[in-house]
Amino acid sequence: METVAGLAISRGLVAGPAFIYRADSLPAVPEREIAPDGVDDELARFNSARAEARRQLTVLIGQLKERGGGGETDVFVNHLELFDDVLLVAAVERNIREKHVNAEAAVRRAMGEFREVFARMTDPYMRERARDLDDIERRILRVLTATEETTLSQIDRPVIIVADDLTPSETVTMPREFVLGFATDRGSTTSHVALLARALGIPAVVGLGDISMRVKTGDTILLDGTGGTVTISPDEAAIAEFERMMRRSRELYSQLSGGGAGFVGLKDGTPVTLRANVQPGLPLCGLATFGAEGIGLYRSEYLWLGEDKNPSEEKQTKAYTEAARVVAGLGRGARVIFRALDLGGDKLMSGNLVREVNPFLGNRSIRWLLSHRDVFRTQLRAFLRASAFGPSSVMYPMIATRDELRAANEELERAKAELAAEGVPFDASIKRGCMIEVPSAALAADQLAREVDFFSIGTNDLVQYTLAADRGNEQVAYLYQPAHPAVIRLVDMTVKAAKARGFPVAVCGESAADPVMAALWIGLGVTSLSMGASGIPVVRKLLRGLSSADVAELADKVRAMCDDSSAADIYGFCRAFLLERVPDFEAFQT
Ligand code: PEP
Ligand code: MG
Repeated sequence: METVAGLAISRGLVAGPAFIYRADSLPAVPEREIAPDGVDDELARFNSARAEARRQLTVLIGQLKERGGGGETDVFVNHLELFDDVLLVAAVERNIREKHVNAEAAVRRAMGEFREVFARMTDPYMRERARDLDDIERRILRVLTATEETTLSQIDRPVIIVADDLTPSETVTMPREFVLGFATDRGSTTSHVALLARALGIPAVVGLGDISMRVKTGDTILLDGTGGTVTISPDEAAIAEFERMMRRSRELYSQLSGGGAGFVGLKDGTPVTLRANVQPGLPLCGLATFGAEGIGLYRSEYLWLGEDKNPSEEKQTKAYTEAARVVAGLGRGARVIFRALDLGGDKLMSGNLVREVNPFLGNRSIRWLLSHRDVFRTQLRAFLRASAFGPSSVMYPMIATRDELRAANEELERAKAELAAEGVPFDASIKRGCMIEVPSAALAADQLAREVDFFSIGTNDLVQYTLAADRGNEQVAYLYQPAHPAVIRLVDMTVKAAKARGFPVAVCGESAADPVMAALWIGLGVTSLSMGASGIPVVRKLLRGLSSADVAELADKVRAMCDDSSAADIYGFCRAFLLERVPDFEAFQT
């Protein structure tokens, strides 16, 4: 038995069988020299493996089509042709005939040479083909070495997914009803798997080193998403103790989850709006369960992930309308804030052909939208059409300059004019918001405030860009500090700019789900918090125990500390302050 410590990113305890998933795992390739009279046999092995790999892919395409996976299918259809590529086949055969190596090594060498040629090409389309070769290589080698392919879509019973890391497009095919938890080698509090786990309300631990190499599919593991540990090969006593803790945690959580509808804010009645971050494809029932007052961040880009073309206006309108109808059903002033497509960084379409050297600083998000106006306009039309079915707002991501905001608003006006001319109903006074997630936006928030109706601070990116620390890289996780004085000052400036215009300001980054940070943000004047729905009950419980005088005092003290304190000092101070005001705070965190 061994307990491995990582980063706790989604609370809760779960015990169950592991399912190991490693995205890039290539089967080990035995390299052998073959005798001249073995050449024909080796050529036959290669060609029958090629035929079998092609057959398997054809079956997969059929299955995906049946499930309605349009975009993914197109990518694989292109791959089919590569199995018969004359040059590729000739190169492998030449290796067998002339270099006298076995089929596996011949495939590996030929693919390596072709990949290099593709990678040197200047045409991005051709460069991207190098990635297709990886896929073909994996498929043929799997047949030759009789290694089974592991995909998340194979999961057909409750499991804890143990992976090196998970990208957004990998998780689109996963049957979510069977996922008990996530444990990954890499990742951070804002990595994709963290957002997903919190949205689904399932426990997760990331940054566990090499856990995916140390556990086998089917092994029982104990995952503690609150304490941030995973226990491998637990003995009976450990399992019994863990089950006792699981029961206790469930009891506490069910006490917290009730009573959302009566939430009015702080102890003295000061209103605070608590909303959920959601993404298309995940069930919206968590909104009511956890007492969310609508959707504070609708991550629309998930409609694009795993696809190789843009979803149609109809498909988008259908998804957005569903969200608008659900929030209309929640009542109590609930609304949905649709965020325009935030593509780029680690959120890529499978058909996105442009690979950038520095994608987080590249042509992503609003920049990409403003250079693809047709896609942007179509999305705005779909948002507007959905706004006829429930209270909605539109929000622009990654704004760095006022010009971008003005250009985005102009597109919105054009979309409105088109719909009006077509006689299509929409909310003509739909509110427009700007995300504050780039330091320049916070520093010039007073300028931006004149162009919109609300702000929403995306601390996931704001922290990453302020401290220049990749939000998904555990090696620099120590620098990823939401309580850093620089971040606090930027939030403070943003709130002041919003207050001067008398409009609301939210925090929709994951720091909103950390009760300590949530209390500080509210003290600084933030009026609304949005987070993975399962984080709401704990934050609500803490805020109910605090008055507006408490949080204002907390914020004042922290402002004063910003001159001479580290993030750890500030966080520790806030935690102690909150424990003193709400003594049972620690107990309901478990
Ligand atoms: C953020 O950056 O804080 C945010 C909410 O956006 P995302 O996590 O989708 O980048
Ligand atoms: Mg962001």
